[in-house]
Amino acid sequence: MTRMIIIGAPGSGKGTQAEYLAAHFGILPVSTGELFRSHVRELTELGAEARAFMDKGELVPDRLTDAMVARRLADDDVRNGFLLDGYPRNVAQLAALDALLEGKGQRLDVVVQLAAEDEELVQRLLKRAREQGRSDDTAPVIRRRLELYREETQPVVSAYSERGIVVEVDGGGDREAITERAIAAVGSFLGTRQ
Ligand code: AMP
Repeated sequence: MTRMIIIGAPGSGKGTQAEYLAAHFGILPVSTGELFRSHVRELTELGAEARAFMDKGELVPDRLTDAMVARRLADDDVRNGFLLDGYPRNVAQLAALDALLEGKGQRLDVVVQLAAEDEELVQRLLKRAREQGRSDDTAPVIRRRLELYREETQPVVSAYSERGIVVEVDGGGDREAITERAIAAVGSFLGTRQ
């Protein structure tokens, strides 16, 4: 079983790719954005707290996010593998995840970095705003989320790169082509590590 992370800017299509990749590798996707959105829908206390940050495009505080991930990764269905989508988003979360996995005697196998051009990202996000009406897909919030990705999340990619576990996948073009590229890249990376 595989423990994977997918990292990409907002609009890179990482949520969609996470679903397909996870299905291919027989693991469950764990999306912190989805977990937060379901808390918001179900009107939980965590949802109320998280929403204020999400609506502005800010990161939900680490204390809340790390605790939510720790609870989710304690579930039986992800004991032998998972694909984290949207976490870790900054280096403090990366350290929290390291500690969490170390406590379980687990390690990450691979980090998929989905790369896309800024212009394509903005176009995709504006399209999603029209289609899904997500409250955090407005122009100023999109700008802020892209900025946070560059400032907070790129260093996470660099840290994992130094460990030699990042596989970069070209996130341009249509959905099927990206999925095929990602599956091939991850497959050959995992194959060469055995
Ligand atoms: P996403 O669906 O991954 O784009 O996440 C949507 C929103 O949920 C983000 O803009 C943040 O407000 C919040 N969020 C998701 N994942 C995290 C995380 N790892 N740390 C902090 N906030 C997060």
